[in-house]
Amino acid sequence: MPRFLDVLLAGLLLSTSMTYAGVTPAERLGEAIQFQTVSYQDRSQIDPKEFERFHAFLRAAYPRVFAQLEVEVINQYSLLISWPGSDSSLAPILFTAHMDVVPIEPGTESDWEYPPFDGVVADGRIYGRGSLDDKQGLLGILEAAESLLAEGFVPSRQLVFAFGHDEEISGKQGAGKIAERMREQGLHFAWMVDEGGTLVSDNPMIPDQQLAIINVAEKGYLTLTLVATGPGGHSSIPPRVSTIGRLSAALERIENNPFPTRLVVPVKVMLESMAPHLEQPERLILGNLWLTQGLVADRLSQDPLMNSFVRTTTALTMFNAGLKENVVPQRAEAKVNFRLLPGDTPELVVSYISDVVDDPEIEISHDKWDHVSSISDHEGSGYAVIEEAVLAVYPRALVVPSLMFATTDTRHYIKLTDNQYRFQGMMIETRQAKSIHGTNEYIGVKSYEDSIEVARQMMKLGSR
Ligand SMILES: [Zn+2]
Repeated sequence: MPRFLDVLLAGLLLSTSMTYAGVTPAERLGEAIQFQTVSYQDRSQIDPKEFERFHAFLRAAYPRVFAQLEVEVINQYSLLISWPGSDSSLAPILFTAHMDVVPIEPGTESDWEYPPFDGVVADGRIYGRGSLDDKQGLLGILEAAESLLAEGFVPSRQLVFAFGHDEEISGKQGAGKIAERMREQGLHFAWMVDEGGTLVSDNPMIPDQQLAIINVAEKGYLTLTLVATGPGGHSSIPPRVSTIGRLSAALERIENNPFPTRLVVPVKVMLESMAPHLEQPERLILGNLWLTQGLVADRLSQDPLMNSFVRTTTALTMFNAGLKENVVPQRAEAKVNFRLLPGDTPELVVSYISDVVDDPEIEISHDKWDHVSSISDHEGSGYAVIEEAVLAVYPRALVVPSLMFATTDTRHYIKLTDNQYRFQGMMIETRQAKSIHGTNEYIGVKSYEDSIEVARQMMKLGSR
């Protein structure tokens, strides 16, 4: 049982070395939640003082990190921290997280079990906005580094920590500027790890198995604007085809012609890894995707959640036309949002949709898009390090690669490394995931402590 002993020992070390100044990691996270580092779409609503106070808190809470490592403030509110390695010939590794959180939806404050910015630690949980997204990620990295510094650990490879301050509103001022600075420094990373994947205790496919989901790719994001223009005028003498009718017909064609289904590599590997743990006939079907993948992709697309794994999705999200009930508008505008499977390009989406719409009277345009999603290697050394770190803390977990639907700060770093992983070592229940950006966001104290140990293991194993 050496593995069991290792884990036990690691747990003991963790509990002794991480409570310093009489404060536990959970209490420090609770305190971090109290800083209202809220990102608003309207940037004028953001309170810069909260970010400054949060920086001061971090400096006081992690004295070794801020005294012994190289710390650079980027664009006033973001942080770039470098831990030099003993062997400069090795490529560095990047750990990222973000310090901003989303606002509380007005009117929902009283639905919280504990106020969202009190950072209450109770019932074995830490409650508050940012407890899952993403202050636990940021503090988890700092907890890991602080305790490793206390042990006298010296990485052989340089470790870099990057903490942006506006991930929730594009990340351009935070991660975007950090990435610019990294390019100036000539940094190129062996791999990076960001938020995005976790361990799930009750996944619906194999409920009795702890599943560790390492996202090796994310879906792309593209919005098309469709505009129909035409003669308007008084509704008493209407045109035969109105702008609203023309645009509606086009949107109906778009909805009725979804993109074809297919299994991309991470989804394929995820299903294959699960196969041995399933009952028949699923075991046979998912274990032989070389033969069954077309059928499997079609079957998965019947389920709204699984559908997002197997195709570039189409969502009609906005429709604007008309100002007065007795006037036919001369212009109707709609927006359609697509989430692209890796491999599908914006150009491909535009050309597919133009063919489906097949109406020269409808103008289709889109914003500039320069973050095309790619798939990172699930057999590379970075993935292997994360898997080993997970198994050191959760020996029974099944580690699988997967595809993420949301976007993170990761996209700002794509030119700085070929291997981008999205994973944090906390264990959550599927229903807990709904509290991210919602009500009653919390993390279990044990889950948080385990995630810190996973981060420690990633730093130790990764820096070899
Ligand atoms: Zn986040």
